[in-house]
Amino acid sequence: MKIYFHGATGDVTGSAYHVKTKHASVLVDCGLFQGGKEEKAKNRQRATLESGKLDAVVLTHAHLDHIGRLPLLTQHDYEGPIYATQATLDVARLILRDSYFLQKGDLDRENRKRARSGQAPLEPLFTEEDVLRLKPLIRAIAYNQPVQVAPGVQARLVDAGHVIGSASVELTVEEDGKKKVVVFSGDLGPRGAPLLNDPVPFERADAVIMESTYGDRNHHSLYDTAVEARKIIAKVIEAKAKILVPIFAVGRTQLLLYLLAGAFRKKTLPRFPIYLDSPLAIEATKIYGKHNELFDEEAQSMVKSGDLRENLQSAKFCPTAEDSKALNNVKGPCMIMAGSGMCTSGRIMHHLRHNLHYPETAVLMVGFQSPGTLGRQLVDGKESVSIFGEEIAVRASIHTMGGFSAHAGQDELLKWFAAVAPSKPRTIITHGEDRVRKIFSELIRSRHGLRPECPNLGDVIEI
Ligand SMILES: [Zn+2]
Repeated sequence: MKIYFHGATGDVTGSAYHVKTKHASVLVDCGLFQGGKEEKAKNRQRATLESGKLDAVVLTHAHLDHIGRLPLLTQHDYEGPIYATQATLDVARLILRDSYFLQKGDLDRENRKRARSGQAPLEPLFTEEDVLRLKPLIRAIAYNQPVQVAPGVQARLVDAGHVIGSASVELTVEEDGKKKVVVFSGDLGPRGAPLLNDPVPFERADAVIMESTYGDRNHHSLYDTAVEARKIIAKVIEAKAKILVPIFAVGRTQLLLYLLAGAFRKKTLPRFPIYLDSPLAIEATKIYGKHNELFDEEAQSMVKSGDLRENLQSAKFCPTAEDSKALNNVKGPCMIMAGSGMCTSGRIMHHLRHNLHYPETAVLMVGFQSPGTLGRQLVDGKESVSIFGEEIAVRASIHTMGGFSAHAGQDELLKWFAAVAPSKPRTIITHGEDRVRKIFSELIRSRHGLRPECPNLGDVIEI
């Protein structure tokens, strides 16, 4: 078989791996390239995905960098099945709709600019119709239930512990009377983290295509981060001030709510009002609730006993713009969770504009902040920032909470790989910056005597 690498080669976006045999053609993930102009331009090289000849698509999880190019398939008349867990398919529907509207907003702005300078307008990457045409193609599969997805190709999904419904994909591929097993790690979650189960490792594979997002370092411990967050929150609550949390809608929002419920239950924090001010995060939280059978044991028992609901009574959803505006007049103590996670757009911008100049305000940064974003400026300690063209003094305290990552750190990645290493798989490292891939590959080489490969965009590997 041949595997074509259509993304996540030397960076962490655009995951898409095309497995081809004499009889079958299967795409694992179909992610969007995200980042600067150069990255985004790669999304338009759609011919490489060869949708017309595909038998099936299998998804690891519903983050945009793993599903965002799916509408390009239907745009090119793909009518085959799209396999994933039910939770992934539920979240994917939400994320793709959101992505469509974000893309449309960006494009309208760009085209107004182009019109003023006499340039022809740009076509959208995909249309709402392309998104809607995905719906009849989706096929839910459960963890650990092998399914024939194409002639001679069987897929089995196991829990990757990254976000709800996330999976590693094992393909058993039969060609010329020989069977080979190829494992795609997908994004792997941390071990021992609350709410979700740990990633399930594999014992045998002929080839492993593995992510390496944090292949160069370990995270702060989640426990230490949670203790630190609790101390900061307790202080702000006592001062009757506001805590602002720029959130990523799927994953960390639900982890934070779960940790807060735990703190209320154990009375390590007094109950205070929490406002979830993000329609996307609200919908994602409902999907987490619907699929609570995928929670870890402790979280499931908190659901069954009613403790989770009981302890989250002070959490209020704010779906409408009016709900959001009303928060300007709400007095502390309270926590406002709003998107976007890097403070590049969304409702958090308004809350920052209204509250950054108060020294009692605390801002909790729970995720990675890219260079150039407002979130990064705050983390870097800028004394004033520009929001909607207005210069705002930053007197609030800004706290970086490094341990809430949804990704496995270096040690956890190595541990996952150690389980499959004795079967001496061909090892292919993707989904990491080149510098990081090299560091991680070297660790695998020295520990297991294997020679990992780091393919580039468009490369083909024969197995
Ligand atoms: Zn992910």
